[in-house]
Amino acid sequence: MVSRCLCLFLLVGLVHGSSLTADFYEYEHSLKRNMLQEDERKFAGWNKDLNEDEEIVNNYLTYLKWQEFQNTRAAFIPSRPIQDYLNQIKASKVYEVLKKFPKGGSLHLHHNHVVSKSIILDIIINSSLYENLYVKTSEPNKWKLDILVNPPEGWTKLKDIQDDPKKFILTKLTFLNVMDDQARKYPTDSAIRWSLLEPLFDRTGSSLVNHVDIIKKHTEALLRAALDENIQYLETKSKAGKKVYILDSSATETHGKRFIDTDSGDKELQSISSVVENFIKTHPEFIGYKRVVNSFRRYSKERIMNDLHKAVNLSKNYPNLIAGYDLVAEEDLGYSLMFYQENFQTLLAAHDKLPYFFHAGETNWPDDLLTSMLPEDPVSTAANLYDAIILGAKRIGHGIALANHPYLMKVLKSKKIAIEANPVSNMLLGYVQDQRHHPAITYFRYGVPVVISADDPATFGYDLFTADWYEVFMGWGFDLADLRQLANNSLQYSAMSSSEKINAFEKWIKAWNKFIQEMKTEACGLHFNSDQPFISNIFPRESYFPGSTKVEVFGRNFERSICQTVLCKFGDYTSKALYVNNNQITCNSPIYFKSSYQAERQKASFPFSISFDNGTTFLSTNLTFTFMPCYSRIKSVHY
Ligand SMILES: [Zn+2]
Repeated sequence: MVSRCLCLFLLVGLVHGSSLTADFYEYEHSLKRNMLQEDERKFAGWNKDLNEDEEIVNNYLTYLKWQEFQNTRAAFIPSRPIQDYLNQIKASKVYEVLKKFPKGGSLHLHHNHVVSKSIILDIIINSSLYENLYVKTSEPNKWKLDILVNPPEGWTKLKDIQDDPKKFILTKLTFLNVMDDQARKYPTDSAIRWSLLEPLFDRTGSSLVNHVDIIKKHTEALLRAALDENIQYLETKSKAGKKVYILDSSATETHGKRFIDTDSGDKELQSISSVVENFIKTHPEFIGYKRVVNSFRRYSKERIMNDLHKAVNLSKNYPNLIAGYDLVAEEDLGYSLMFYQENFQTLLAAHDKLPYFFHAGETNWPDDLLTSMLPEDPVSTAANLYDAIILGAKRIGHGIALANHPYLMKVLKSKKIAIEANPVSNMLLGYVQDQRHHPAITYFRYGVPVVISADDPATFGYDLFTADWYEVFMGWGFDLADLRQLANNSLQYSAMSSSEKINAFEKWIKAWNKFIQEMKTEACGLHFNSDQPFISNIFPRESYFPGSTKVEVFGRNFERSICQTVLCKFGDYTSKALYVNNNQITCNSPIYFKSSYQAERQKASFPFSISFDNGTTFLSTNLTFTFMPCYSRIKSVHY
């Protein structure tokens, strides 16, 4: 009690004129810095808490990131066009670890454009349908593939086309293979890039995968590919009422395609349902699959109305399978959400409601420039963000333009509307030139829920999910806790029901625990022969007594502490340190009690040292840490 009174007295004395020392300001600065960082974390709602094993894995990932950075800093991959670095990314240790990372779900995918083109071709080549696989060769550079009987003129059997027909045709099926000099020259001209991508959507689209035998194999391949990269849940987008066909030579008008379904889309969904059900039986770690029904955003209002009715019917008939509705294709070129507003209104008036997952704000253009050539729709692309929110979208695809609308970020945060970020797609289509500037970093730090997905990985040609996570981990400044947040978001903001989410999280936590144990073993098995660590400085160099202060320790070669107990020593007092990266660790100065009146008025300085082997040896430094008298204690800090 005596000392507390004295501290108060001295504090008042200081405020009234005594000069404060430079030490005091350093200490005060460090308190403000800690507070600012903590408030930022709370503002975004980040859960940064990691248990002891998770800390080790976080240290390991941080170390791997540092190694990757050292190896690539002269040509830092997230800042470079990904098409030039794919092989390097896939060969990296970071990629290997991230492939194993349990990513939760992938929620923004276009159904026919996820499974590698090579796998789709293999499915057909290894079946009797190979005899019926034809290529349209009559128009150079307008390749088409289809399964036909007696095709029209201009079509050639694929197997007759070249010595290695698969290799040949693969070069015509992906964006990375057809990207031209013009696209490379203007990396933010999204229109050029879309003009190359859009024809590819038809090339290995429904005409191939909707054959009754292919649907099942294609769906199995999709689920297997996801699980292979530790994606346990999928939502894919596909058009309303896909028709399934068999081959029948008597169907001469359609060159052998006999559709065995109406355009309700029943047969395809029944087929997918049974594949998913069986897959979960044989792979119990898989969570499930849902479908977002989509329409092409250049359709007429009548056609959109028709699709909306189909989507409503499908969601009534398959309530566990249908997630909702979306509009797809190049947003700058298509109709706005406002244009279709009366369609959505008609649906509401009929008491029908669909959950919406709109692509919105996938544009580079400012709000006041109109990109659509459609004369009846003078609404800018960026304005779709307003309408997506008003129409009650559960999630927004891409949302690049949101970066120019901080107030809308606030709205998304409060309404818990997630942004589906697709980093590689955004770069390939010219919306983000450097992943270090991806706008979703800002959304995440603002507290807008963000999920990571892959859009059209196979049609882009980068197969499959982990490349996006590589870009995020290396380029966005994210650690293990952030990646965990993204994985959790992908389940939390999925279209699953509450009870489905409980089951989903149970499965994900199992995968998470397995990952942590495997990575911990890997981390703790590392041997470091690198140079000895050394300390350059600590910040702050003071604390008051009796309190404890977070002390940043800067230096080099700290990687050996990944799986070791590191101790900071302040005179005779030691405290446990936390690895931040190879150049930085943090520790808390110990609580230092000096109760005598004399000690309250005097500084006490101690040599600072650090141990990287749990206290067996200490690395001496010429640094000192000072416990200041309690009159320096700051009662309330505001930055
Ligand atoms: Zn998309």
